[in-house]
Amino acid sequence: MEALIQIAYLAASICFIIAIKLLSSPRTARTGNLVGALGMLTGLIATLFHQSILRYEWIITGLGIGTALGAWMALTVRMTAMPQMVALLNGFGGAASALVAAAEAQRAVISETLSLLSPFSLTTISLSVLIGSITLTGSLIAFAKLQELISGRPLLLPAHHYQSLLLLVGALILTLIFLQQTDIALLHGLMVVSLVLGIWITLPVGGADMPVIVSFLNSLSGLAAAATGFVLENYLLIISGTLVGASGLILTQIMSKAMNRSLWNVLFAAVGKSTAPTASAEKTVRSTTAEDTALMLGYAKQVVIVPGYGMAVAQAQHAVKKLMDALVQRDIEVRFAIHPVAGRMPGHMNVLLAEADVPYDSLYEMERINNDFPQVDIALVIGANDVVNPAARKDPSSPLYGMPILDVDKAKTVIVLKRSMNPGFAGVENELFYQPNTYMLFGDARQSLEKIVESLREI
Ligand code: NDP
Repeated sequence: MEALIQIAYLAASICFIIAIKLLSSPRTARTGNLVGALGMLTGLIATLFHQSILRYEWIITGLGIGTALGAWMALTVRMTAMPQMVALLNGFGGAASALVAAAEAQRAVISETLSLLSPFSLTTISLSVLIGSITLTGSLIAFAKLQELISGRPLLLPAHHYQSLLLLVGALILTLIFLQQTDIALLHGLMVVSLVLGIWITLPVGGADMPVIVSFLNSLSGLAAAATGFVLENYLLIISGTLVGASGLILTQIMSKAMNRSLWNVLFAAVGKSTAPTASAEKTVRSTTAEDTALMLGYAKQVVIVPGYGMAVAQAQHAVKKLMDALVQRDIEVRFAIHPVAGRMPGHMNVLLAEADVPYDSLYEMERINNDFPQVDIALVIGANDVVNPAARKDPSSPLYGMPILDVDKAKTVIVLKRSMNPGFAGVENELFYQPNTYMLFGDARQSLEKIVESLREI
């Protein structure tokens, strides 16, 4: 039986590796998800045959409650609420790792073998409790911020980062003493300090930086699981935890890089405190109407649509698809330019456009389309702001300077759909809106798009 379980674990690990590969492209992501779920099922079933399981009542109850809750969450979650759901699930993962490790220590206390455990086992138990607890409370704060249960603004107490440092040092000292004295009370103390540390680390991070933190916490939850894998000598947990840890860290890096920030800056700079846009009284803004926009679009040959966070807020993806269809019917070439950090989570725009059945081959990543903008007749910017701000190229004093952007300002005509002149996430004014070739179509993006499609029919 033991050999069979190990073979099943190996098969599950292979499923996870293939799943990650398939998840890297929108075309194969669904299959990737299925393969990953199959791996998880294999691992679960194999574990149920483990010889140390004496009674199944608790396991079946847990499985029942977990499956019902998971299915309910997956079926009811709105696409815009996905980041907070991921945050919550990460937190539960961290909590599970910490609890399993603590339970292993408790088991050793009951059999009076805690002091006999090797330093390696004690270290992995401590690590699992430390990282898992930080992941739990950090993820819960991320969830609360994203769900707007608490303010999304960075919350900094006096000498906040020193307090965090103190907590970290405290946690490490408790770990060291636990290794020496093997007193379970010290492990419980470590858990409490780590839970507080998770809150302290996440509070100063602004709401819009949360996805980077969620990805970072995801990586931590993987490391906690891997540590628990060592505690239990379970190879599947070690492999899958390491995969999650590594891929979460890579994603964190990609996101930080696309925002031209370091993880350090995201964690400690408290970006998003409040940056008022500078006054721009003397600059002229050209506003337009849905009818005139339809007219301009109707006579264009090449149109590039640039979606951003506002498209998600307005839930305008279906209206965008209708506009695309109307333009394609008129033999107008329509492409979508996708910035890696448009929206508020990785792949945000891809997911929304896929939901509206926009074909994948109409989606162009920034590097593939940026050189084409000078030939584009109309760049239609739908609720995007920071990712099209030319200050990132031109103004060394701008917080966005150095961030790669979509060069829509180079298109022949730019039409921007948004509700006001308010800045985007970075709180920075956008010169694009004052350019002589830019027209602003003010209003909710979905309503504006519906009006444009209606007007197009009459042309
Ligand atoms: P921005 O946040 O820069 O701008 C979004 C714009 O959408 C706003 O200016 C807003 O203007 C407009 N908007 C909001 N609601 C509506 C609506 N109903 N109809 C029309 N417009 C609307 O978004 P971008 O996508 O350009 O940039 C993303 C930003 O988020 C970047 O700074 C990025 O670094 C950051 N970020 C991205 C992450 C990711 O993983 N994608 C993670 C963390 C941060 P108005 O209020 O006037 O309507």
